[in-house]
Amino acid sequence: TYVVTDACIRCKYMDCVEVCPVDCFYEGENMLVINPSECIDCGVCEPECPAEAILPDTESGLEKWLELNNSFSAQW
Ligand code: SF4
Repeated sequence: TYVVTDACIRCKYMDCVEVCPVDCFYEGENMLVINPSECIDCGVCEPECPAEAILPDTESGLEKWLELNNSFSAQW
């Protein structure tokens, strides 16, 4: 899955939401999140993010962000 990280906070761009083929972006508290159980790992959102806030969860140190993405997604 892909994960939205802190660079997204108060970001005004929604380019990622528009390109996601499965609509798995959701509103977090002050940023967008990706629902890890819906993300199909296609990767098209990553280059669309002007803030470079979207990263694959294979990168190290993202556990906290993955958890946050997951917790907000669970509300929907
Ligand atoms: Fe959506 Fe693909 Fe990005 Fe996952 S990797 S959030 S499916 S655009």
